[in-house]
Amino acid sequence: MFIDEISIYIQAGKGGDGVISFRKEKFIDRGGPDGGHGGKGGDVYLVAREGVSSLTDFRYQKHFKAEHGGNGEGGHRHGANGEDLIISVPLGTLVYEIQDQPKPVEEEIVQQTHRFLADLSSPGQSVLVAKGGLGGKGNASFTNSLEQAPRIAELGASGEQKKLFLELKIIADVGLVGFPNAGKSTLLAQTTNAKPKIADYPFTTLVPNIGVVDVSPGKRFTIADIPGLLEGAHEGKGLGFTFLRHIERCRILLYMIDIQQEDEESLASEIQILFNEVKTFNDALFQRPSVIVCNKMDGVSESFLERIPAILKPLGMPYFIISGKEKIGLDPLLTYLFQQLKDLPIIPVEPTYVAYYSLPESDFLVEKVGDNTYRLTCEKIERIVTGTDLSYPGSIRYIHRMFKRMNVDKILASHGVIAGDVVLIGEKRFQWV
Ligand code: GDP
Ligand code: MG
Repeated sequence: MFIDEISIYIQAGKGGDGVISFRKEKFIDRGGPDGGHGGKGGDVYLVAREGVSSLTDFRYQKHFKAEHGGNGEGGHRHGANGEDLIISVPLGTLVYEIQDQPKPVEEEIVQQTHRFLADLSSPGQSVLVAKGGLGGKGNASFTNSLEQAPRIAELGASGEQKKLFLELKIIADVGLVGFPNAGKSTLLAQTTNAKPKIADYPFTTLVPNIGVVDVSPGKRFTIADIPGLLEGAHEGKGLGFTFLRHIERCRILLYMIDIQQEDEESLASEIQILFNEVKTFNDALFQRPSVIVCNKMDGVSESFLERIPAILKPLGMPYFIISGKEKIGLDPLLTYLFQQLKDLPIIPVEPTYVAYYSLPESDFLVEKVGDNTYRLTCEKIERIVTGTDLSYPGSIRYIHRMFKRMNVDKILASHGVIAGDVVLIGEKRFQWV
C-alpha cells in the first residue's frame, strides 16, 4: 500500500518547572534561594530525506512527542533541555496544519482548514512544526532588593501541539504518462538504477518509482514511473487522478504509447486520451514541455514505422520511436531529455489555504445563460471559489469534494447541466466533468 496523504499528531516537549529551594549548609542558618530553572521542552521538526519514499510508515505511527525539559533543582542546577524530535519525510512532502473549527458558524459549517506550512523539496530541508515550551524560572531568579527569600518559581510552559496533514508530491525531472502495459517500467529499468516490477499485465506498478539516469559522469536526471495512472481508461471511467499529482512537479512529461498493434487509429486516439486526462486534471500541467514516445517498435513493420510521422507531426510535439525492451533508440531520447532539462526551471508549488463548507440547497440559483453555459449564483460558493487559488491542483480536488458535499453536482444535474457544459461561478469558468 502506497500512502501519499496522511494526518499525524505532533507534540513538542513541555518546559521543565523551576524550583523553590534554599541553600542548606552546615553552620549557615538560613541560606539564600538557589532553585534552578527548568529545561526547555524539545522541538519537533520534519526533515526531507532522499531515502524515504512514501508516507506509508505513518500509518503505523501517527503520534509523535518530543522530550520534556527536566525540572530545575536546588543548588542552582538547571533542568536538562528536552531532546528535539526529528521526523523524516520523503522529498516533496507538503506540510499543512489542520485547524479544526470548534463551532459551526451560522448555517455554514467550516469543518476544517488546512494552513500551508512548508514544501520540503530539497534533501535535508527541514521545518520547525512545534515549539517546545520554555522552562520555568527557579526561585533564585526572583530575588531583588526587597525580596531576599522569594518563595516563587515558574512552571514550565507546555509545548505546542498540532495536527498536521502531509501530502506527498514526488519530485522528479521526467514523468511517465501512459496506459498500463505501455512499457513504462521497462524503460525505467533499462535506463535507470531503479528496479521496478515488469509484467505483461496491467497495474503491476503499485508505488511510484523514481530512477536516476546517468547520461555521463556528473550528468544525471530522474524519471518517475507512476502507479495506476490511467487504469480503467478503456472503460471510460474517471482515471488515475490520485496519482497524477505525482507528475505535477515533473518538468517534462513523457507520453508513452504501445505501437505493437500497428494501428494508426488507436495510436492517434490513445494520445488524445492521455492528453485529455492530463488537461482535465490540470491544464497548466498539460502546458509543460512534453515528448511522445512510441514504444515496442521491435517487431513492428517498416511500413507502419514510416506512417507514424504523418500521425504525430501535426501534434507539434517532439516524438521518439523506441524499444525499451531491446534498448533501441534510447540514447537520442535520453540525450534530448537531458538537454531540455538544462533550461527548465524547477516547479514551485503554490501554497494554499482550504476550507470545507456545507450549505443548505436553498441558497443556489442556476440559470442557463447560453448554449451549454450556465451561471451558478450563490454568495457562499462564490466566496469559496474566489478565495481559493485554483492554479494549485490540490485546491481543485478540494473544491470538487466540497461541491459533492454540498450537493452542487446533483443540483446542477437537476437543472440539465451535463459533462462538458460550462458553469460560471463568480468570475471563474468551470468545465463540468
Ligand atoms: P508498464 O505497465 O507501462 O509499466 O509496462 P511494463 O514495463 O510492465 O511492460 C509491459 C509488458 O510489455 C512487459 O511484458 C514488457 O516486457 C513488454 N515490453 C515493454 N517494452 C517493450 C518493448 O520495447 N518491446 C516489446 N516487444 N515488449 C515490451
Ligand atoms: Mg509499470
